[in-house]
Amino acid sequence: MKQCNKCKRMLPYSSFTKESQYRDGYRTRCRACRAAEDRERMARNKPASATFFTPEIRASVLANTMARYQADPEYRSYIKDIEGKVNK
Ligand SMILES: [Zn+2]
Repeated sequence: MKQCNKCKRMLPYSSFTKESQYRDGYRTRCRACRAAEDRERMARNKPASATFFTPEIRASVLANTMARYQADPEYRSYIKDIEGKVNK
């Protein structure tokens, strides 16, 4: 058994993620606490990224990419190289 640093519950080792860098080989917070933290982090990050990638920004990124694609032959071959790998 091991006590979770966050919720202070005594839990079996199977409730903790293995992590060799830690002294006893397990993380200090239980899986449930880590999952809850991940959810909180996602909820916090969501509004920011939603406003960052507005349709206007996406359109301008696409326009910049297309302009460069047409103006820069090296970039063109770079993109073709990527497409070749993706479409394989
Ligand atoms: Zn916990």
